[in-house]
Amino acid sequence: MLTISQLKLERTTKKNMTRCHVLGLKELERKNLPKDFPSKLRKESFRYFKGLVSCSPRNKKHIAHLVVFDNSKPYGRRRVWLRCNCEYFKFKCEYVLDRRGSTTRKYAIRKPPTVTNPRGIPYICKHLYMLILLVRSRV
Ligand SMILES: [Zn+2]
Repeated sequence: MLTISQLKLERTTKKNMTRCHVLGLKELERKNLPKDFPSKLRKESFRYFKGLVSCSPRNKKHIAHLVVFDNSKPYGRRRVWLRCNCEYFKFKCEYVLDRRGSTTRKYAIRKPPTVTNPRGIPYICKHLYMLILLVRSRV
């Protein structure tokens, strides 16, 4: 599983984030986790956050999930499980993060993203980046 500091933000994503904001953030109980959250991870201790993130008034709002493990460690060294329902996550991130144990493949096809992310870099979308920043101030 990847730690927060191992996650990467693409330069083009970073430039494109000025209008991003988290509309709502909730810390939820483990019974609210997605059904396909791995059962072996359920035995560990963690905190589960879910955020509604918008990056433009006209754009669709996206739901981002963040599960943070190792809560006694510095934030960057904590392992995470993540999910977002945006297209960027589906086409560029999900397959790669699934292989590293930091998500469970749901939207992406079962083939490496050879066109969108040929080097298999553990990118995250702007929605998850915003959520990770906000959660840092809460944990
Ligand atoms: Zn996203």
